[in-house]
Amino acid sequence: MVNYELDIPRIIEKIREMKAKTVGLQFPEGLKIYATNVAEQIESETDATVLISADPCYGACDIADVQMGGVVDLLVHFGHTSLPLEYDVPVLFVEAYSKMDVKKSLRKALDLLKDYKKIGFVTTTQHLNHLDEIMDFLRENKKEVLIKKGRGIREGQVLGCNFSSIKGLDVDAFLYVGSGNFHALGIKLFTDKPVIIADPYTNKVRNIDNFADRILRIRFARITKARDAKKFGIILSSKKGQFRLELAKDLKKMIHDGGKEAFIIILDNIYPALLTPFRDLDVFVVTACPRIAIDDANMYKKPLLTPQELQIVLSRRKWEDYKIDEIIYDQINIKY
Ligand code: SF4
Repeated sequence: MVNYELDIPRIIEKIREMKAKTVGLQFPEGLKIYATNVAEQIESETDATVLISADPCYGACDIADVQMGGVVDLLVHFGHTSLPLEYDVPVLFVEAYSKMDVKKSLRKALDLLKDYKKIGFVTTTQHLNHLDEIMDFLRENKKEVLIKKGRGIREGQVLGCNFSSIKGLDVDAFLYVGSGNFHALGIKLFTDKPVIIADPYTNKVRNIDNFADRILRIRFARITKARDAKKFGIILSSKKGQFRLELAKDLKKMIHDGGKEAFIIILDNIYPALLTPFRDLDVFVVTACPRIAIDDANMYKKPLLTPQELQIVLSRRKWEDYKIDEIIYDQINIKY
């Protein structure tokens, strides 16, 4: 059973309108199980041949337009909203809204929000279709709710590399509707306000504080270990929404200025085995997706740091000013 609205009629209409003969489909990992079903529907209702991208995809930073450039007439990307980037082929973004009932977890969240009146609200793409319903629910329960549009993203939306929609909101606490801890962790570290997670997948609610404390302890240990490092690898991704070459060069210079060695390594899908051959490198700094260094920390023996953590290692930033990394789209180098 499909738990997401994949809006097939809109895709079919677009293919017919464009008279597209070859159509690419790209899904994030959680939606790939629907790929052949979607391809079957498209091929039975249009004259197009479908190509399914099976490479890993975790965000709109990572569109398969380069891979499919010159091959497809249209690329349909599921599960993410577009970012302000230029693409090599026409891309149709299909958000894949969740059909889950968000109210069950919201009702539970009210208890954790009982001491707060003004609430800042954010969620991820798949629940944006519930925005009005969530706002109405919170207001009916006597909460004053504030949301805002972020830089290059929609109102009330948050990404793991873009917290602009929570910044500057004058609230008592934040409510995040979605799964996982990373987005709530980022909100906590950017605002130092209470952050409550309402997870519609598990119908569980929690405060992020304990998780944030644990992650900060881990980050502190990684930073401390990295202070003894002599050779650094700076990982640069060629994915369009993650390609920060200027940042990588700045970090290399910063490391050299600190009397240590640094090498820039281009790597798109970052796994421990791919870093194993670089035995002489003591630490890796990730300029690609900001989530990797933190979410995947346990997979690596050597420290993986964010650019801001490297600044702490090199005594250019104080631990007290710890900050989650963000990607600023107008600072991305467009190389294509
Ligand atoms: S860079 Fe990371 S957090 Fe940002 S959109 Fe891509 S996968 Fe998501």
